[in-house]
Amino acid sequence: MRKKIVAGNWKMNNNLGETQVLISELKKQTQTTDAEVMIAPTFVNLYHSFELLRNSNIEVIAQNMHFAKNGAFTGEISADMLKSVGISTVILGHSERRAYFNETDETLAKKVDTAIANELRVIFCFGEELQDRRENNHFSLVESQIKNALFHLPEDAWKHIVLAYEPVWAIGTGETASPEQAQEMHAFIRKTIANKYGNSIAEDVTILYGGSCKPSNAKEIFSKEDVDGGLIGGAALNAEDFYAIVNAF
Ligand code: PEP
Repeated sequence: MRKKIVAGNWKMNNNLGETQVLISELKKQTQTTDAEVMIAPTFVNLYHSFELLRNSNIEVIAQNMHFAKNGAFTGEISADMLKSVGISTVILGHSERRAYFNETDETLAKKVDTAIANELRVIFCFGEELQDRRENNHFSLVESQIKNALFHLPEDAWKHIVLAYEPVWAIGTGETASPEQAQEMHAFIRKTIANKYGNSIAEDVTILYGGSCKPSNAKEIFSKEDVDGGLIGGAALNAEDFYAIVNAF
């Protein structure tokens, strides 16, 4: 069954004290939907966040992960390390990882495999740049990102996959895809999955929208048939804004 999800990607924001404050503000918010709520603090604060949110309905998730089991990869974090501190979901393929840390479809395919082998749920991000959209290449680009990183997976791996369509031109820019643009792309993504894996898997996969989602636009975007929630950056750093989005279904 497809789920509604709102996940906050904190990126490289919030030191320990700020993390404690934001989590205590999040705990005061109330939720009127059955959406799953997640936050992705920085690695160093994952365990503390997990402890603070134990027995709450907010899941703590990771922003990234290495594909290797362990070894000489200075500065990296393994799937086993994440699991050992209570994490069961990881964001992979965020456009900032692709742009600033050279993550390719090939690397991401390996990361996805490692996550699945460790029974981690993956929020797999992808999306086109402005130039792709201007040149009308956005559908083929998105299709290739999905195919290259995910289409080697067996059917039963798909229960661990959540997709996040994030047009790069909308991330952190204040510019949002219109609800119609989001729906058009989400329907295309679902059709792409259906063509490869059949309708049942395609109908069950949760597809999030990300890109300057905020309280003022979330309701309209989430009302679209193939939009199952959001991956939220900037607005996730404020508890009231974040919960206004959680409650926007
Ligand atoms: C993101 O980084 O995934 C994101 C969607 O950021 P923002 O909401 O700030 O555009």
